[in-house]
Amino acid sequence: MSQLRYFSLGGYKSLLIIPGYASYVDSIMTPMPFDMIGKNIHELPCPNIPELLDALDILGNIDSSRAIIPWMASVKKPLPHFHEKAAVVSGTNVIQGIAIALNMHHVSLEGMTGDTNTNLNAKAQTALKLTKEYHLVILHIGGCDEAAHRMNRVEKESFLSRVDEIVLTELLASDHDIEVVSDHGVDPATGRHIGGLQPAFRLYK
Ligand SMILES: [Zn+2]
Repeated sequence: MSQLRYFSLGGYKSLLIIPGYASYVDSIMTPMPFDMIGKNIHELPCPNIPELLDALDILGNIDSSRAIIPWMASVKKPLPHFHEKAAVVSGTNVIQGIAIALNMHHVSLEGMTGDTNTNLNAKAQTALKLTKEYHLVILHIGGCDEAAHRMNRVEKESFLSRVDEIVLTELLASDHDIEVVSDHGVDPATGRHIGGLQPAFRLYK
């Protein structure tokens, strides 16, 4: 446990690394933070792995103003490099990490937050600029996911309208082929991810 490492990822997300425990990954049960909204922190279900509990103890998990809620366990896996020269525009740490792992160029400018307060104009402009150098540019938008996790339907709908108005208008006016895809939905009534087939929009010029 001496090599325990904790990294803040900005906002409410962080990364806790416990070396040597990769074999536990499929058996670790953790609460979903979004299920805990409005509940007393002391009702937090304990993770079922003693080593993880020890790690949280070392970090002084709960005091009157803050707590670490272990969200999801994973292990580092090697990823093959993406076969094309590609760029990613995203303010979300995990997307930036995936881009780095896949050997894609990634850009995150000030004001790109991965949430509904992101700078949509800057994202669209940056993506268009990158098309001069990259055959494939991925523009990631995470605000609809975050708003729905907060169970805020109004925030999600108004953010999606702004995406249509600012990002789509800009991209559709360009001469690029465009695909709009989602990895999953989130139901704002429950705050939970929805799996299964997702709608996709494709415009090849
Ligand atoms: Zn999500």
